Amino acid sequence: MEKCPVCKEMKKGKFSCSGCGAFFVCPNPGCSSEIRKRDAEGCPRCGLLFADYLKNRKMLRQCPKCKKKQGLSEPQCRYCRYWFLCPTCGHKVPSTSMLTCPRCATSLR
Ligand SMILES: [Zn+2]
Ligand SMILES: [Zn+2]
Ligand SMILES: [Zn+2]
Ligand SMILES: [Zn+2]
Repeated sequence: MEKCPVCKEMKKGKFSCSGCGAFFVCPNPGCSSEIRKRDAEGCPRCGLLFADYLKNRKMLRQCPKCKKKQGLSEPQCRYCRYWFLCPTCGHKVPSTSMLTCPRCATSLR
């Protein structure tokens, strides 16, 4: 354990601080992004929700379109069919209004 830069206690683990709940590295093995924003609710890269991970080790994301929570491994929203990742190239779809992948032009409808 190291000293947490947020609460200054020796509770900083590999991904997060067990004292104050601050995240430093995304715990999603396929992502591992460094988290710089201290009040972030989720990973800016893969969308993992930190609160659910902290509570019950569940890897969930929130759909930016219909706001429903679901497993992080799903490439498409189960409820509104919004694509989180391009089904062809895996590129992150940055906007809910995109109809094609910005990288490979696959239709996202
Ligand atoms: Zn802390
Ligand atoms: Zn992540
Ligand atoms: Zn959705
Ligand atoms: Zn694509």
